[in-house]
Amino acid sequence: MASYKNTYKNVEESQVDTAIIPVGATEQHGPHLPLGVDWMLANAVAQGVGEKLNAYVLPAMPFGASQAHKGFRGSVWIDHNTLAAVVKDLAHCLMEQGFRRIVIMNMHGGNIVLKVAVRELNFNHPDCRVLLVFPQAVATKDLVGVIDNITVEGHAGEFETSMMLHLHPDLVQGPGPDCLPDVPPDFLDYLPMQLATPTGVWGRASFASTDKGERAFKIVVDKTAAMIAASFQRLDEIAQKQKPGIHERH
Ligand SMILES: [Zn+2]
Repeated sequence: MASYKNTYKNVEESQVDTAIIPVGATEQHGPHLPLGVDWMLANAVAQGVGEKLNAYVLPAMPFGASQAHKGFRGSVWIDHNTLAAVVKDLAHCLMEQGFRRIVIMNMHGGNIVLKVAVRELNFNHPDCRVLLVFPQAVATKDLVGVIDNITVEGHAGEFETSMMLHLHPDLVQGPGPDCLPDVPPDFLDYLPMQLATPTGVWGRASFASTDKGERAFKIVVDKTAAMIAASFQRLDEIAQKQKPGIHERH
């Protein structure tokens, strides 16, 4: 794996053509977790996936679209358009230097504008392939046997707390609270999270454990890497099939 930490001299000459742009956030994660959870998980999962795919891994973007966390002190956010612009700038830098496969790895549900950015990048640069992956969603089906509440988890619950207990146990303070709001998750499009859950937790943090975190982390990394590899391969196959058709028409 190529990493921003040690390969800035070699990346251009290397055979590595895949780059990962991890995107996190800095926002409240209940009374028991630090505000940097999404950024820390983005870094850790991207490093794990990068190793499996021999990809160049950028440092995770620490700021995202955390508007829904307004009112919880310390949470910060950038405009949706700013986030899209930063990610597109980074992708363009990578494309200019020969990277043809770019993965935008999102660890924060509020970063919804990334879907727009990834479409723009792909349709403006047909010679490159840009994927958008949300590791937690990719792995949800496989996490069912590990994280009891995975299907009702929203934020700072059993999944994120377990992951942090595994990766940064020193930053977790005691068992977190349980809170399952009586509104569906799309209510975060209508109101600040604080009104749905005063603790800032959307899930059952008290179910978390280090063992669950270790198992969940492995599943998330494995499934995300496999999904990325399969998606790039499928896109290559489709491009190969298209070529003769294009020639016939001209
Ligand atoms: Zn989070």
